Order: sequence, then C-alpha cells, then structure tokens
Amino acid sequence: MFDYLIVGAGFAGSVMAERLASSGKKILIIDKRNHIGGNTYDYYDESGILVHKYGPHIFHTHSRDVYDYLSLFTDWRSYEHKVLAAVDGQLVPLPINLNTINTLYGLQLSTDQAEAFLKERAEKISPVKTSEDVVMGRVGKELYEKFFKGYTKKQWDLDPSQLDASVTARVPVRTNKDDRYFTDTYQVMPLHGYTNLFTKMLSHPNINIMLNTDYRDVITFVPHKYIIYTGPIDSYFDYCYGQLPYRSIEFRFETYDKDIFQPTGTVNYPNGQAYTRITEFKYLTGQQHKKTSVVYEFPKAEGDPYYPIPTAENAALYKKYQLLAETAPKTYFTGRLGTYKYYNMDQVIAQSLTLFKSIMKDQPIEMQANGYKKTLQQT
Ligand SMILES: Cc1cc2nc3c(=O)[nH]c(=O)nc-3n(C[C@H](O)[C@H](O)[C@H](O)COP(=O)(O)OP(=O)(O)OC[C@H]3O[C@@H](n4cnc5c(N)ncnc54)[C@H](O)[C@@H]3O)c2cc1C
Repeated sequence: MFDYLIVGAGFAGSVMAERLASSGKKILIIDKRNHIGGNTYDYYDESGILVHKYGPHIFHTHSRDVYDYLSLFTDWRSYEHKVLAAVDGQLVPLPINLNTINTLYGLQLSTDQAEAFLKERAEKISPVKTSEDVVMGRVGKELYEKFFKGYTKKQWDLDPSQLDASVTARVPVRTNKDDRYFTDTYQVMPLHGYTNLFTKMLSHPNINIMLNTDYRDVITFVPHKYIIYTGPIDSYFDYCYGQLPYRSIEFRFETYDKDIFQPTGTVNYPNGQAYTRITEFKYLTGQQHKKTSVVYEFPKAEGDPYYPIPTAENAALYKKYQLLAETAPKTYFTGRLGTYKYYNMDQVIAQSLTLFKSIMKDQPIEMQANGYKKTLQQT
C-alpha cells in the first residue's frame, strides 16, 4: 500500500514525493512521459551538448527557502540571463532599458531624461486591466507596438488587450543600464543540469517511480491512501465543464558547427518571424564545446499543455474546477497544470512546499540529503 500516489514527476510532484518520502511515507510517482523532471527535463543531444527538451529553463528566485531546499540536491553555477530583442534591424536589450531607448532612437539620454521620455509617451489609462493597459501606460504606443504587440500575438494568439495584466506586468521597463532579464536575489543554474537534480531528489528508498504510464491505466490496481495530482486539472475531471485553454509550443533544435551562434542567451523576435525567440544553451549551462545548440520556439494552439492562458474567462472556468477539486476525496492538486497558474519553477516549488507543510501540519521535519542537514520549522 502506498501512502501517496503522485501524478507527474515535474517539480510539483517531485518536491511532494521527496518531502513526504523523507517523512517516512511510501510514495509511487507516475509520469506518462519516459523521463522525470517534467518540463525542466534536460539531456545531452547527439553532439553532446546539454539542452532543455521543453524550452529554456532559467532558475531565479527571491526565496531563500526555495533556494536552500533545492541546494540539497544540486550545486549551482551563477548565471544572470540576458535577452536582446531584434527590433528595427538592431539587437537591443530587453527589458527595455536606457540603452534600448538610446540605441533605437540614436539618443544619449540620461536616466532622468529617459524617465521624462517615457512619461511623455505613456498613455493615461485607468483602471489598468489588460496587458495592453500595463504597457501603454508605461511606455506608450510606439514602444508597445515594437516590443509587445507582435510578440504577445505570436505567443498567445491573442491581442494584449485580451490578456490579463499579469502577463506583461512580469516584464519590467528600466531607465538605468541594468540589462539582466531577472533581478531576483538568486539567479543560478543547477551545475549538472535539472535531470541530475531530479535524479538526486527522487533517489529515496521510499520513492518508487513509474514512467511511460498514464495514471488512469493503473490507478484502480495500485493501492494507495492519497493522490497528489499535478497534471491538467480539467483532464482529471474529464473536462466536465469544458477544456481549459492552454498554449503549446513547437521546439526546433539546431546544432551549428561554430563556437557561438548569437551574442547572448536569448534573442527575441517580436515581429516578422514565426518563432518568438532563439535560445543558445551554452550560455545557460556554461558548457564548453566547439559546436553550439539552440532552440527556436514556435507557439501553437495544439500540443502539450505548456502555458495556462491568463484571461478573465479562463480564470472563471478554472474556478469551477477548483471548487470541484475541493470536494475530491483524499486528493490534492498542485503545480502549474494542477492549479492552472502561470507559475515559474520557484513558485511551483514554493507551492508544493506549502502544501506539504499543510498536509503534515505541525510536525518538525528532518531534511537530510547529500550530507546537508537542516530542521525545517513548520510555519
Ligand atoms: C517553454 C517554457 C519555458 C519556461 N521557462 C521557465 C524559466 O525560464 N524559469 C522558470 O522558473 N520557469 C519556466 N517555465 C515554467 C516551468 O516549466 C514550470 O513552472 C514547471 O515546470 C512546472 O512544474 P510542474 O511540476 O507543475 O509541471 P510539469 O513540469 O509540466 O510536470 C507535470 C507532469 O505531469 C505529467 N502528467 C500530466 N498528466 C499525466 C497523466 N495523466 N499521467 C501521468 N503523468 C501525467 C506530465 O507528463 C508532466 O511531466 C517555463 C515553461 C515553459 C513551458
């Protein structure tokens, strides 16, 4: 008898598996894919270059707890991600910063002048409801159209005016020269990759792993007390209220016989091309290799569910599933798909750590792995 049957071996499911196993519970974790790690799975391609199968995953967090927790299973390399955008025939920093404005307009503005430049162009919008409102209210129509409108349309197949404000609220605008994509306290990559991290996380005697298996095919045969479900919540309930929309991506990998392909980790293509961005993995992983591998991302409607689409309508539909989930006996829902939230890795990990704490209530737990030991106080 397993204490917990966990559906999905991405971060949401694997964190739950590890935490519960470390507190003495017997776990079966199931994934329909042929590997652990969920969307963060990485592997060495034919040329021996470490690539991310489901698109580039850059780890960044403000949370000390999440960073400390993951440090049980990996060493890190520092990595501050930088992005350029191909606009008007030039490559300029993204998020928009002082250099972006000066390069695009052939100016030499100071920070104060750039603030004034943006203020002059920003539209007065109240209340701010959509992604379009957020960007127009900060940088005005012209920069909105150069950087955001086309990219958002490609990425979501929606106009920014149809998307929740939270989508572009994630993309800051700066008037200094800071060209880092993220400003989190911890910006690191697992030294030996994500799959290596997951292998360590799941190598606990209380954890059994079953791959290439849809949980529906085995659930009635495998005795278990509780379920933790991290797949798409609408699928769990047989789409009884209809399908929650997700955005998918086709990844096209290329390997080039040269040391470096592009000047930075990611180059965005807001306009023109069918792909949204190209990422070169060696920047992320720090790997030395005489060849280089990149991935082109082509957003599409059909395929694996990657991005919950953040519109008001979809949030209302999710709410109905959430209410149903609350009545599902002995079943917990977590993760990006299980809770239909546009979460980054650190948010998913934090969500699962919180769920674990609420399951275990007020018991202090010994965290022990890789020679590192710490007592987590339940809060
Ligand atoms: C292209 C892309 C780039 C991203 N980049 C970043 C980034 O740079 N930084 C960042 O922090 N976050 C990034 N993310 C977000 C990150 O991928 C997620 O936050 C994280 O992977 C979510 O983990 P999860 O466990 O909730 O879901 P997943 O990793 O999706 O895991 C869910 C697992 O459940 C399995 N499953 C589903 N249904 C079933 C079933 N019926 N039976 C058995 N198994 C099932 C799936 O096969 C899957 O392996 C990115 C996401 C995408 C799509």
